[in-house]
Amino acid sequence: MLTDMTGRTRLLGIIGSPLTHSVSPEMQNAALAAMGLDLSYVPFPVQEGCLREAVSGLKALGVRGVNVTLPFKEAVLSLADTLSETVRKVGAANTLTFESDGRILAENTDTGAFRQAVLQTVGPYWKGRKAVILGAGGAARAVLCALSLMGLQEISLFNRRRDRAEKVLSEFQPHLHGVYCEAFDLERGEALCDEISKADLLVQATSVGMWPDADACPILDFTCLHDGLSVFDLVYNPEDTRLIKEAKARGLSASGGLLMLVFQGALSLSIWTGCNPPLETMLDAAREAVNRG
Ligand code: NAP
Repeated sequence: MLTDMTGRTRLLGIIGSPLTHSVSPEMQNAALAAMGLDLSYVPFPVQEGCLREAVSGLKALGVRGVNVTLPFKEAVLSLADTLSETVRKVGAANTLTFESDGRILAENTDTGAFRQAVLQTVGPYWKGRKAVILGAGGAARAVLCALSLMGLQEISLFNRRRDRAEKVLSEFQPHLHGVYCEAFDLERGEALCDEISKADLLVQATSVGMWPDADACPILDFTCLHDGLSVFDLVYNPEDTRLIKEAKARGLSASGGLLMLVFQGALSLSIWTGCNPPLETMLDAAREAVNRG
């Protein structure tokens, strides 16, 4: 049931702090309009320390579901009644659903969205290959989960704080299905270059390069971007980060994170509505919102 007991429009939304950079409201409202559904998607900025009150307020107000972004993707787990298998593996959720019986379900659509976006943009064959992941936050956890399911054989995880990368790998150990993984310090440029030189796929999952710091890049020596390397950057604003521009200039298969954003939003919408969202409409709306700045 998508309208409330009085037949009025029900709400969806996004919780996080800050939300000024989010293009999800534009993207999701464009999809809802095209689907002809009586739902509206609203940004709900939530201050740190107020998450519990905010989630019970959303539930009390009859909100159907929310996306969850920084800094709450891990903290929402303790407020949900049911965690999906992916959420339990990744240790983070980006989608909450408020069921009519009062239960709160937590899902992680970043994992499936990353997989779909990589297969569609930079290539379909990853079994037995080697990847380098930059970052060890919530997004990197979703990437690690997806890559282990995609059959990669070897993964090098680089993070500014190496202990965080080590912690992620030790927590993931039961889910890695025999994938060989090693943690590195992102600031050790020589090791980074060395590992990228041996890799087939480079995934940028830090927040470096995001607007307004669009000139920033976690890689300083671009000579390691060799022929045969595919590059995927989760950052979607700007649509092409400095890393993606450098990779494309060398003729490499490379993509930013805009399509992943669309896929994760569409997967959330289909959980809440039971319908298939219009992906092209969502991509156009997200691109327009990103380029508007
Ligand atoms: P997070 O949990 O806050 O993690 C941030 C990561 O970036 C950490 O690994 C952090 O390293 C690293 N980092 C931050 N500033 C850095 C700097 N100056 N130098 C080096 N490393 C730095 O954030 P997240 O949820 O993982 O998100 C990461 C990025 O992915 C964001 O840009 C987000 O928008 C994007 N994302 C995109 C999608 C999509 O659909 N396209 C989905 C999810 C996320 P430390 O651990 O050392 O602090």
